Formats: sequence, C-alpha cells, structure tokens
Amino acid sequence: MVIHDLIGIGFGPSNIALAIALDEKRRDGRRVDAMFIEKQAGFAWHKDMMLDQAHMQISFMKDLATLRNPTSRFTFINYLHEKKRLQDFINLKTFFPSRHEFNDYLGWAASQFEDACVYGEEVFEVLPEKEGHGGEVSLLRVRSRDGAGRVTERLARNLVVSIGGMPNIPDGFRALRNDPRVFHSSSYLRDMARLPDAARIAIVGAGQSAAEIFMDLQGRPHAPQVDLIMRARSIRPSDDSPFVNEVFNVEFTDYIYSQPENERAALIDEFGHTNYAVADLDLIQQIFKMFYEQKVRGEERMRFLRRHEIRGVHAAADGIQLTLHDQNTGHEDTLRYDAVVLATGYGREQHKALLTPLAPYLGDFSVDRHYRVGSTPDFHPAIFLQGACESSHGLSDTLLSVTSVRTGEIGNALLRAIPAGAPVAATAVNAANSPRHERQPVQA
Ligand SMILES: Cc1cc2nc3c(=O)[nH]c(=O)nc-3n(C[C@H](O)[C@H](O)[C@H](O)COP(=O)(O)OP(=O)(O)OC[C@H]3O[C@@H](n4cnc5c(N)ncnc54)[C@H](O)[C@@H]3O)c2cc1C
Repeated sequence: MVIHDLIGIGFGPSNIALAIALDEKRRDGRRVDAMFIEKQAGFAWHKDMMLDQAHMQISFMKDLATLRNPTSRFTFINYLHEKKRLQDFINLKTFFPSRHEFNDYLGWAASQFEDACVYGEEVFEVLPEKEGHGGEVSLLRVRSRDGAGRVTERLARNLVVSIGGMPNIPDGFRALRNDPRVFHSSSYLRDMARLPDAARIAIVGAGQSAAEIFMDLQGRPHAPQVDLIMRARSIRPSDDSPFVNEVFNVEFTDYIYSQPENERAALIDEFGHTNYAVADLDLIQQIFKMFYEQKVRGEERMRFLRRHEIRGVHAAADGIQLTLHDQNTGHEDTLRYDAVVLATGYGREQHKALLTPLAPYLGDFSVDRHYRVGSTPDFHPAIFLQGACESSHGLSDTLLSVTSVRTGEIGNALLRAIPAGAPVAATAVNAANSPRHERQPVQA
C-alpha cells in the first residue's frame, strides 16, 4: 500500500493553498507526497450560496498565494492574466470580485492539482496504525466512502484536516432534519429549487447569508412572501474599517496566540462584529431601499420581523408552523411557512468526530502555533487543523485572510515532521469492503 507523506481531508481553499505551498517547496528541492480527499464530485466553493449578486468580502489579494509569495503563479492576478481579463478587471476598480469569479479562480487553481486529489469520497474515519504489538503509532489509516458506498483505505504519515464548517441547526429545528421544507443556508439553492412553488418563506438569522438570501428571494419571479426573522434589533454592518481590519493581519495571529486563553476569548468577542451576525453595509442599504420602495407601493411582501424569538416549531401537513414571540410587544403569534431557511451559521468541531479513534492520543485537540495538534509521546504522525483554530489563532482562521501564510507555516512544520530522504513506499492499495483502484498521487 502507498504510504503518503500527507493526506489532506477536504479540498477547499485551505487545502488548495496548502497544495500550492507544497508545490513551492518541491521547487526548492523538498518533495512531499501529498494526497487530498474531497467529498464533492468536483471542485466547488459554497456552491449552494453562489448567488448572482454576491461578491467577495475580502480583498482579492488575500488569495491562495499573494500574501506569502506575490510572485507565485497561483495569484488571482495571474489567474486574470491567464484568462485574459486583467485589464478589464483593473477597469472594474474593485478589490472585491464576484463570488462567481472567485469560485472560478479557486477551481482554476484546484484543476492544476487534479492528480493529487481524489474527488467524490467522504472521509468518515481515521484510525491509528501501530507498529508491532502494543507499539507506537507511526501511521494513520484514512477511511473514505464514495457515493456508491465503496470504502477505500489509505495510509499516511501525517494528516491535515481542512473540512470547513458544519451547518449549525438551532435546537428547535433538529427534529425536522429530514423535512425538506426546513434547510440550512449551506444548501439554499439546491433545496429551494425543490420547492419552486413555496409562497411563504421564513429566513432565520441576522448575518450576511440571511441578508443575501432575503434579497435573492425578493428578486424571484414567483414573488414569494418572505419574513426575515431575528432576535436582534437590526441588521448590523460588518466592520471592515482599516484599523479594525488589522485583526486579520498576519502578525495578529502571533499576538493572539501569545495571549492567555481568557484574553484570546475577549479579543474574539470584541472583534466578533467583523464576521458574525453582521452583513455588508451595501447589502443593508439595498434592503432598506427595497423596504422603502415597498412602502411607496403600499405593499408588505417582504417583512422584517426583528426582536422576534422563535418559541415553537411544528411540522404540519400544510406547512411549518413557527410560534414567534415579539419581544417589543410581548405578543405571540403562530405563522405558517412553506419553507424555512436557517441562516444560522456554522460549527467548527466536526474534526473531533472524524478523529474519535485517535482521541486517546490527542488530549483536548489543542494546537500549537503551527496548527499541529498536541499528542502523547507514543503518537508520531503530525495532525494539522485548518479552519478549526479560531479560539487559539483568532478570527482570521475560518476566513481566507491568512490562508496563504498559514499553509506556508504548515508546510514548514510538515517538513520538520518528515525526516529528509524518508522513503515513499509505492505498492498496491488496499480497499476495505470492495477493492478499488487508487490513482497514483503526483509529487505535490
Ligand atoms: C457563502 C459563504 C461565503 C464566504 N465568503 C467569504 C469571503 O468572501 N471571504 C472570506 O474570507 N471567507 C468567506 N467565507 C468563509 C469560508 O470559510 C472561506 O472562504 C473558505 O471557504 C474556507 O476554506 P476551507 O477550505 O477551510 O473550508 P471549505 O471551503 O468549507 O472547504 C472544506 C472542504 O472540505 C470538504 N469536506 C468536508 N468534510 C469532508 C470529509 N469528511 N471528507 C472529504 N471532504 C470533506 C468539503 O466538501 C469542502 O470542499 C465564506 C463562507 C460562506 C459559507
């Protein structure tokens, strides 16, 4: 069986950026045999939130490479150059490309590592591989399943887990997980397409996704009635003013990591309004204008139910009933909806479930400055986390802000973990349930 130097779980921006960083190291003479496993059938970046009007909320210069290496061929500028759009983009005079275009850029970068990534397999388990009886753990056995249920196993010396966020479903809605009328914003376009006649729609949430979906539904030709439901008093703008934005600077990672735990938590709380439960000011202004125009026409198709708390959720044959408590008036009302969209954010803990068999070696899963999970002395593989280190590395961890620099740091830490000249075995692969041919990885 092939023993990879590294297996990366997920092939979103974080692991694409890592593949690029490792490609640079190869040019410097250090080869890392890296294989990435992605559950989607091909590359796609938040495809069910690929709304027509959506644009990036970060400068294009915080792409997969520029901050670490502006001379990389994987910069957004080189992508534009290769696509023959550089001059046109300059004339757009923006730092914020559309989400469609950034997705195309990410896909363009991902396509250059086709041989290092297997698509359509979801990793469901990582097992420790011991040397001899009761020996030390030197390898990891990564188990994945494809759409047909076939299981493939691969061995790796090291692992990087970059699996993004897991939809956050509020308690009251958990029991309705299998009801197609209730879904999370992460599957918005797909699930909405299954309900083309939904005439009354509720959106729960107060952040960017809730606001984007609200405007998307406003523009739909079948003109549904839409309620935007939130506990907050208003939609608040995300603060991207320059001094505040310094919390996303690369140096800030060192600063926050060096702080005691309570200070880190206080900093994340203080600057939470850069990212959580906030929306772009432009979008807020569009929503306000849309409400104003409704007033002029004397309509109330789109409603803003602020200071409303959901006190009850009931799935009835004729719709999802939400019992709403108006915190301003104390009034309670039960409304019926054909669809409920939960724009309620993401959790970042699912790596723990994936790595459960390794838990005895990994303590509380805390990471060092270079994103490596601490382990017991008898456990040798290095395991790195991307996107799950906000509490130790700050708010930039779940965003693109420092991705290019972070992956350079992980690449260096990885090379320290792999002794120079370590052999790369190359024999057949072992499939667990049904044998399956594994594509040979390129040297990334
Ligand atoms: C709608 C939306 C818009 C955003 N816009 C911005 C923005 O403008 N700027 C910004 O900085 N950030 C933005 N973000 C934040 C976002 O987290 C980052 O942009 C970026 O996607 C993080 O990359 P990632 O690779 O860590 O995670 P992801 O992009 O989530 O990628 C994780 C990948 O892992 C795969 N995966 C998950 N589990 C498994 C498994 N068990 N086995 C195999 N594969 C698996 C997933 O399919 C996915 O492809 C946005 C987020 C959303 C939801």
